[in-house]
Amino acid sequence: MLIDNHHRVINYLRLAVTDRCNLRCNYCMPEEGIDFAKRTDLFSMVELCRLSRIMVAQGISKIRLTGGEPFVRKDIMTLIRHLAILEGLEDISVTTNATLIGPFIPELKALGVKNINVSLDAIHKDTFEKITRRNQYETVYNNLIQLIAEGFNVRINCIVLDGQNVQEILPLLEFTKHYEVSVRFLEEMPFNGGTKSFQTIQWNYKAIYNYIAEHYQNIEKLNSEATSTSINYKIEGYKGTFGLIPSFSRTFCGSCNRLRISATGDVITCLYGKPRMNIRTLLRTAQTETEIQQHIQAVIGTRSKTGFEEQEKYKGVFNNSMTSIGG
Ligand code: SAM
Ligand code: SF4
Repeated sequence: MLIDNHHRVINYLRLAVTDRCNLRCNYCMPEEGIDFAKRTDLFSMVELCRLSRIMVAQGISKIRLTGGEPFVRKDIMTLIRHLAILEGLEDISVTTNATLIGPFIPELKALGVKNINVSLDAIHKDTFEKITRRNQYETVYNNLIQLIAEGFNVRINCIVLDGQNVQEILPLLEFTKHYEVSVRFLEEMPFNGGTKSFQTIQWNYKAIYNYIAEHYQNIEKLNSEATSTSINYKIEGYKGTFGLIPSFSRTFCGSCNRLRISATGDVITCLYGKPRMNIRTLLRTAQTETEIQQHIQAVIGTRSKTGFEEQEKYKGVFNNSMTSIGG
């Protein structure tokens, strides 16, 4: 079992399988993209399978595949098939922009993948296209509806962006009237590949809640798991729910159970810090599984208590793009 220096059990791995993406969301990276990693610096499929085996053997019970866009990787299903038979892995989740997932939906279901997070910052086509700088709206919307129809536990992630998509909050909530999904509104974080820097945000979780509460009277607060990053609510009579994720305000750090591994193998113990080590390098040297696990445990033993504490230790983390970190 992985336990950090603050006695927190670390059982959730967010694994980025690529840093590439077919969209260019303006809060994530510049229009021209970022300096993507050299192909040889990305994990090979053999390495991803070995890495996940090692991590699950060490107590990871939930893996979320992320990126970049996970489905840009043509061999992504090979990894998911491997994960599906790993004993001890209870939850395989995916975070996706839903542009390329369509053909894989039946197999994902057959393999037992249940939780799919779809990033959708607008329910209106024009806003969607302005934010993503691509014209994939119909495909995304159709895939979203198909995922819901197939019974996946779908969560829509919407980053609330000042001056861009605030007008989408209410239509997205109305979506939960008819569909059993959770729409989660996230605070924008300054991980955009250096496009813009900011120290405060207007649309923090309290402002988002107040805005919603102005328009709906009957909002019920729901109980959430201790490790949940979202504060969850339900509008009376609506099929779905909504959540607020204070990703910039960071109210949830105390119960953090996550570890991140980037597509190039950087081990990130906190979103607001820099990598503590590179595990791809270890996999490429003749280290035994036990040796690799010892390195991981050592890194887990150096975690900051909160993102604010971590941020103090490093300069320049905000030049990074979320496509390299995995969200
Ligand atoms: N491409 C996939 C997607 O968009 O769902 C997976 C990778 S993406 C980096 C993971 C999550 O990070 C997405 O939900 C995205 O909205 C979020 N994200 C990206 N940049 C962000 C930022 N600057 N602030 C907050 N969330 C961000
Ligand atoms: Fe791509 Fe996801 Fe970043 Fe958008 S948020 S550019 S879909 S990696």
